[in-house]
Amino acid sequence: MQLSDVRYQDVAQSQLQRALHSGRMPHAYLFAGPPGVGKEMLATRLAQVLLCPNAAVTRRVAVRDAALSNAPSAPAEAEAPVGLFGPLSDAGGEDDGGLFGAMDAPSSVDSGEAFVPVDVESATSNRAAPPPEKDCSIEACGQCVDCTLLTAGTHPDFHRIHRMLSKLHPNKEVRNRKATVLSIDVIRQFLLGPIGLRPSRGRAKVFVIVEAERLNQSAENAMLKTLEEPPDDSYLILLANSADSLLATTRSRCQKVVFGPLPTDFIVERLTAESKIARDTALFFAEMAQGSLGLAQRYVELGIGERVEALHETIRQAESEPLAASKRLQDIAKDLAGPLKKYQDEDEGDTNASRDAQLLVLAMIATLLRDTQRMAAGAKPILSEARMKQGKGPLPGTRHLRHVFRAINEAEYQISSNANTGLIFDSIGIALNRAGHLAV
Ligand SMILES: [Zn+2]
Repeated sequence: MQLSDVRYQDVAQSQLQRALHSGRMPHAYLFAGPPGVGKEMLATRLAQVLLCPNAAVTRRVAVRDAALSNAPSAPAEAEAPVGLFGPLSDAGGEDDGGLFGAMDAPSSVDSGEAFVPVDVESATSNRAAPPPEKDCSIEACGQCVDCTLLTAGTHPDFHRIHRMLSKLHPNKEVRNRKATVLSIDVIRQFLLGPIGLRPSRGRAKVFVIVEAERLNQSAENAMLKTLEEPPDDSYLILLANSADSLLATTRSRCQKVVFGPLPTDFIVERLTAESKIARDTALFFAEMAQGSLGLAQRYVELGIGERVEALHETIRQAESEPLAASKRLQDIAKDLAGPLKKYQDEDEGDTNASRDAQLLVLAMIATLLRDTQRMAAGAKPILSEARMKQGKGPLPGTRHLRHVFRAINEAEYQISSNANTGLIFDSIGIALNRAGHLAV
C-alpha cells in the first residue's frame, strides 16, 4: 500500500509530500474533513512512511511507459539505494494490505500505474529540498518488518488513540465510566505516558488520535504542552470532522490538512464494484452521503436500498394524508434503528441508534427532494429519471421546496435536542403536504 494510493485528496497529498521532501516534517498535524473520505487511511500510511527504514522517493509512471522503458513494474522489484531517514534494512515479509479493509483504495496496479525508484538524494533527513516533482512521491517500501507490523496493526510504535481505550485503562473506575468522550484519563495513559519513552524499534513513534472532536476540554488542555514541544522522534496526527470543534489553542499548535468530499462517480464505482448493487441505488447512496465513501458503504450495509421505495410511497401519501405519512416515516426509522445498533458502541446505547435512524430518514427525504428541486429549476435529475413519478401535476415552486428543506433542518436540530419524535415527523408530513406534488 502506498501513501499516494489514497484517492482524490490531492491537496492533502501534496502538502504531506512537500513536508516529506523538505525533511522537516511537522510534529503535529490536524487532519480535518468529513467522515469517510480517507483521513485515517492517509494518517496510517503517513505513519508507515515515518516508521519504514526503507522509505524512499518513487516516481509514479504509467504502466505502458514503464514497459516501454524496461523499468520494473512493481515496487517489489524496485531497488532504492538510500532510505529516507537512514541506512536501509533488509526487506522481508509480505504486504497483505489488509489493515484498511473496505476503505482501502485500489492498488497502484488497479489504477494503471507503477512505481520505480528515482534519485533519493534529496530525501535524506535534515536537508532542505526543492518542491517535489509532479508524480514523484516518498513512499514506504511495503516489505520490511516495520511495514509488515504496521499493516498487521501490531507495530509497537504506532498508537491509535480512541475513546474506547478507557476500557483498557488500569483504573477500574475509568473502565466503568461511559466512554462518550475522549477523556483526559485515556490521553494521560495512552498518549502522554508512551510519548515520553524511546521508540521500541528505534525510529519514531506515531500517535493517531481519532475522533479528536470528542476530546473534552481537560484532555485537550493536557495535550497542549506535548503538541507545542513533542519529543523529537514523535508525531501526532489528530483526525477531526471539523477543525472548529477543537480549541483554538490546539489548532494553532498543529499543521492543518484539509480533506474534501470525494467525487460522486468514484463512490458509485466503488459501491457497484464492492457490493454488486444497481447503479441507480449506488447513485442514491452517493448523493445521500455527500462525498463520504465511508457513509455510502454504511448505507449499503444497512440495507437502506430496500426502504427507498417505501419512502417514495410515503412522500406521495403525504400529498393527501400528512399525519399517516408521519406515522409511516417513524416506522421506517424504527426499522432502521435495529441494524444501526451494530455501529453504536455499548456506551452510546439504543437512544443514539433511534436518533441516528431518524436523522437517516430525513437525509433520505432530502436526497430525493434535491432531485425534485433540480427538476423544478429545469435541470436534469441526478437519480434515475425512471424512479421519478412525473405527470401527476405541476412541480412545486422553489419557495415550497425551501419550506420543506427548512422543516428538515429544524427536525434535525430537534432530534438532536431529544424533542418529541411524533411532533417532529408530523411537521415533516405537513411540510410535504403543503409542497404538493413532489414527483418522487
Ligand atoms: Zn518498509
